Amino acid sequence: MEVLPPKKSVNQKVNLPFLEKAGVELYIKREDLLHRHISGNKYRKLFYNLMQARREGHHTLLTFGGAFSNHIAATAYAVRLAGMKSIGVIRGDELGKDLQKTLKENPTLRFAVAQGMQLHFVSRRNYRKKTEPSFREHLHDLFGDFYWVPEGGTNHLAVKGAAEILTQNDQTFDVITCAVGTGGTIAGLINASFPHQQIFGFPALKENYLENNIKKYTAKTNWQLIRDYHLGGFAKVSPELIRFINDFHARTNILLDPVYTAKMMMGLQNMIKKGFFQRGTKILAIHTGGLQGIDGMNIHLKKKGLPLIRTAFYQD
Ligand SMILES: *Cc1c(COP(=O)(O)O)cnc(C)c1O
Repeated sequence: MEVLPPKKSVNQKVNLPFLEKAGVELYIKREDLLHRHISGNKYRKLFYNLMQARREGHHTLLTFGGAFSNHIAATAYAVRLAGMKSIGVIRGDELGKDLQKTLKENPTLRFAVAQGMQLHFVSRRNYRKKTEPSFREHLHDLFGDFYWVPEGGTNHLAVKGAAEILTQNDQTFDVITCAVGTGGTIAGLINASFPHQQIFGFPALKENYLENNIKKYTAKTNWQLIRDYHLGGFAKVSPELIRFINDFHARTNILLDPVYTAKMMMGLQNMIKKGFFQRGTKILAIHTGGLQGIDGMNIHLKKKGLPLIRTAFYQD
């Protein structure tokens, strides 16, 4: 089976009063529309890894993620398309105790299993050791040979793939923004950026090691992280964020995900409103996808009695 390269995506202009008021132009690169199941940046990060795994003669790809991970869902699907087998090492051994119940309650893992991914649940404590050689050996004892892709899919080949998000035509932008998880995507964008461009990353988690992670993959310095919009940490949400997603969706017909892209857009909107950008600035915000996570988030929101994310306009 062939591993197909991701396509180019379109830049969609956003017209909203706060942009006009600030004299700023905003476009959204619709990476979320690249593929129904292999969300935005995840396929770009997997593509060269799948080629490499194939070249090295592997039949299995093993990777890591949390129970609602976009990376796990995308990998399960992409690896099946590539004609290989996938193993997902999942954080939280309690989820493995009653697998049927877990799959019933968790749309992400249910999807992964439906694509043929084999799940291996580990305790949070062991999950933290996932990059240690002894843990890797343990996994080889369990599963034999495999091609190893780290959590979130970030490695050199992933950064190479992420660089292809930007095209020559994107030279006209002054500013590029994206959500940041492990930093692989922004590193690719930085590498592909033009010297006059400034890249702003919006971390979805509050950890401080991100900067160093990004510096592992790029020597350029035309970037910075805006740390004010993670809302307390990874996958933490507030009623304001949910309202923002629903409102932005209603006004632009663009659905954002609650973990990554909505936090970026809320932050960007705030910065624009506060006059952070000069009049005439042209901004390109990358919609990195992640919409598969909405179903799982809505289950959580419902339990908490919070407003839900409306997906009604969202058509695949
Ligand atoms: C994984 C993910 C990110 C973060 O990408 P990194 O390369 O890990 O920084 C951003 N947005 C979405 C929607 C994602 O799924």
